[in-house]
Amino acid sequence: MKATKSPAQRATQAARLHARKDALLASLPPFTDLLRGSFFVRTLRCGKPSCRCATGKGHRVAYVSVTFPGGYTQQLTVPQALVPVVRRWIANYQRWWRAIERVSELNRRLLRERLLPAAPPPAPAAR
Ligand SMILES: [Zn+2]
Repeated sequence: MKATKSPAQRATQAARLHARKDALLASLPPFTDLLRGSFFVRTLRCGKPSCRCATGKGHRVAYVSVTFPGGYTQQLTVPQALVPVVRRWIANYQRWWRAIERVSELNRRLLRERLLPAAPPPAPAAR
């Protein structure tokens, strides 16, 4: 059986869990700089017989593919100059999702260990 923690130990544990959430939030990229989707590059042949791609390598075209509920997929071409930005935004999206899962996990611990303060009484309605 687990030893019961003292109020001081519980306060320390709660403070540690809250500090982890704060640190996580501080480490995140700007919320406005994110994009859901998958980045990929395709090699295409444009079809012009005189083009270098007819005999050599095709043209490299960057895409973002986004799937929506219902299975609809949208593909956007990405100009070469924007590839770094788009890749960073996609990575940021994944970091935010991982952070959401992590905060949720920390909050489950706070809830499970009864380390959350009781909710303050509701504020009086603004006039
Ligand atoms: Zn071509």
